[in-house]
Amino acid sequence: MAEFKIKRSQFIKRFCVGLGTAVFLFACSNSITEDPAPSSGAASDTTTTLLVATDPTFPPFEFQANGGDLTGFDVELMQAIGEAGGFEVEFQSLPFDGIVPALQAKTVDAAIAAMTITPERKQTVAFTNPYFKAGLAIAVQSDNTEINSLDDLQGKRIAVQIGTTGAEQASEISNADVRTFDSAPLALQELANGNVDAVINDAPVTLEAIKNENIQGLKVVGQLVTEEFYGIALPKNSEHLDEINASLQQVIADGTYAEIYRKWFGAEPPQF
Ligand code: GLN
Repeated sequence: MAEFKIKRSQFIKRFCVGLGTAVFLFACSNSITEDPAPSSGAASDTTTTLLVATDPTFPPFEFQANGGDLTGFDVELMQAIGEAGGFEVEFQSLPFDGIVPALQAKTVDAAIAAMTITPERKQTVAFTNPYFKAGLAIAVQSDNTEINSLDDLQGKRIAVQIGTTGAEQASEISNADVRTFDSAPLALQELANGNVDAVINDAPVTLEAIKNENIQGLKVVGQLVTEEFYGIALPKNSEHLDEINASLQQVIADGTYAEIYRKWFGAEPPQF
């Protein structure tokens, strides 16, 4: 793997340019709830409210704003999809690694959680067309000059979020001491504290944490480790798949997607 280093500003620029090839299909129109209060059960088939799971610890995709309201790119995109499709969206917060089981048990109707479409997950849940292109990045402490690529992580201590593609990637590194955390911010904090050598996590989320100084003294090294596409996940054979795909397609076509993208990433979305 190439080991050249690039400045963070360049990295962000290149990343954004390559970002989010995104996306895909769906159609229809209407209202949504502004209030993301969690609910205790899945919407029944006879209502037009979809209960949508997310793990709000993953800014800028989903997180709690000051005051506790759920916000972020995924949250606004899902609300826009609901408006386009004429159904209401009610969010339910779940830990990321509990989302696929909840979809399998059908206690939620869908999930939007910066979830990478993977062949393994596709065996148990359905995905919409991709709505965002991302990838994994390696983060280290700012003064680390030793780790510049995946190869340099052999035998190192690596923090990851449980149940993620980052955790999967880390598990393939020989002799690595992989430590799992419930959320990405906790893994990044462990790195900032000096208890691990690196974090493997979705690049946009790590870059956001560094940019907003939520976590201090970290940098992203090298290039993206993977190319991944996010999709909205649903139970297998969900009756809502076509509808959500059509509504996603509609918000892309009518410019709503671009508006939300610009708001959260300060860049033009990729052309579809
Ligand atoms: N994109 C990663 C995955 O799907 C991480 C998602 C997340 O932590 N919300 O595994």
